[in-house]
Amino acid sequence: MELIDKLEILADAAKYDVACTSSGIDRDAQKGKLGNTMAAGCCHSFAADGRCITLLKVLMTNVCVYDCAYCVNRCSNEVRRAAFTPQELADLTIAFYRRNYIEGLFLSSGVIKSPDYTTELMIQTLSLLRGEHGFRGYIHAKAVPGTSPELVDELGHLADRMSVNMELPSQQSLALLAPEKNKQQIIAPMRQIRDNIAVDKDTRALVRKNTTYMKAVKPKKKERAFVPAGQSTQMIVGATPESDFQILNLSAALYRTLSLKRVFFSAYTPVNDDARLPGTDALQLNREHRLYQADWLLRFYRFDVTEIIDEEHPFLDPEVDPKANWALNNLDFFPVEVNKAPLEALLRVPGIGVKGAHSIMRARHSTTLGERELRKLGIAYKRARFFITCNGSYAGQGTDFSREGLRAHLAATPKGGGHGRRADKAIPGQLSLFESVETPEKARIAQGAGVDPRGHLGAGAGERLGTAPAGQHDNAANGQRRGNADGAFGWQHALEQPEAACA
Ligand code: SF4
Repeated sequence: MELIDKLEILADAAKYDVACTSSGIDRDAQKGKLGNTMAAGCCHSFAADGRCITLLKVLMTNVCVYDCAYCVNRCSNEVRRAAFTPQELADLTIAFYRRNYIEGLFLSSGVIKSPDYTTELMIQTLSLLRGEHGFRGYIHAKAVPGTSPELVDELGHLADRMSVNMELPSQQSLALLAPEKNKQQIIAPMRQIRDNIAVDKDTRALVRKNTTYMKAVKPKKKERAFVPAGQSTQMIVGATPESDFQILNLSAALYRTLSLKRVFFSAYTPVNDDARLPGTDALQLNREHRLYQADWLLRFYRFDVTEIIDEEHPFLDPEVDPKANWALNNLDFFPVEVNKAPLEALLRVPGIGVKGAHSIMRARHSTTLGERELRKLGIAYKRARFFITCNGSYAGQGTDFSREGLRAHLAATPKGGGHGRRADKAIPGQLSLFESVETPEKARIAQGAGVDPRGHLGAGAGERLGTAPAGQHDNAANGQRRGNADGAFGWQHALEQPEAACA
């Protein structure tokens, strides 16, 4: 098979993996070596459906011995299969880098023979890149669940970021849709990566301090840092009945216990005709978008999960973003005086972002802030004005200061910034670097029972897994029907009591 054919197959097969984003690490160019890495520089280009494509995002192989229900590469599918040799992939990456097509590599793989064999192929590829080609660019590598700790360690010293996919938000769903994987296989490498990162950082700090002890043990050859850009994970949303409440609680537990850099959500993309999967072909991008907004609140806005969502209303409001929703539920907190409020209070105001809040804190040392100054600082004044006073003056007059009155102003899709508009779309597939590889299953889904030619669900089609069409997420009764009260519990239990769970 020609290399270009392999690339077509393996780049197309990798597009369902969303767990890559900007690198988060700085590394300068070096004489005799190739490439550098900028903290914000890796995946700054996003495809129309939100998937980033400036990394060379490929699979080592789409051959897989596993049979995950949701995956196009599962062994029971009849698709064209291909595998790169390590030399082919390393040469291809360098050739693309030299042509300025890419800034780094995102490498995942199907499980060929075994997790260890697959990981060894990835290690050989990365060793060629780092060693033979002196490549200093960004590399994100997937750790295959079930890989030996020694190989995870070796891979981690070659990659900048690693990720182990959680795949699904509960153990029950994992057992149903990916029966060959289990929570121990997934959590054990995540924990190992967390621990190795911490040890590596501590050791380097001691070496820098030049302590007597570290002089004695300092390695002769400088070893690459272990996963310097941290680890991330990904889970599929919408393939199984877990609610946003369960998903966000699980994400918070992952940040808390495993120090993850990111949790990625991937709206379920139907590629297989399988009775265990929901029978819709519409991507729930709006739901994915709301989950990312909520995730942002957890990581940067000092919100707790309980402030964003509760068990009574287990799905995020599709009409209003989670921060605005919190504001509507806590009107007694407002208005906030922008010239006096602490940073924590400013961060709660719809229309004021993290950067804006810090700008306000700095600017008010030298001036009194009003509408003109706030607009200059980039504050979304049209939204913020309902929740702030500027030197005692309130600019939201004429609007009923009630949940219903303000909701009407906040529910509209924000103008400017295409992301919100993109998220409103439900599109029937994902973008490819090449034309999409057709599978018999995709064709069957397109003509399948329960889906009319416009992609709408027919009667009963959503009931196979107890799922409902997109747009019904905020219905508590529906959520109870769909939800599994302790769906994410299995994961969280394992995370909170890690050592026992994985012993
Ligand atoms: S192990 Fe990965 S590549 Fe293989 S079937 Fe499962 S999800 Fe697909």
